[in-house]
Amino acid sequence: MSKEKKSPHIPIRTCIACGIKRPKKELLRLALNVDKLIVIDYSQRMSGRGAYVCHSCIHRLKPNKRLERAFRGQAKALSISNIQFV
Ligand SMILES: [Zn+2]
Repeated sequence: MSKEKKSPHIPIRTCIACGIKRPKKELLRLALNVDKLIVIDYSQRMSGRGAYVCHSCIHRLKPNKRLERAFRGQAKALSISNIQFV
């Protein structure tokens, strides 16, 4: 019926807060903006390295080794700058 089903492969990513693996589309993507600040990549289209976190974890995400490693020390601050409480 739908050609959307042609690929059974679902990209899996690991939440950097709780370590649970989930399908990528169920996670929020974090990326660095031009100011080297960690922001939520709501468009999922920002270039460069990214990290993923569950929707339920985003509000309690603390700076940790996984976050640091995800951005290889390139982030200016290990906090997320644009969390929108929607
Ligand atoms: Zn999580």
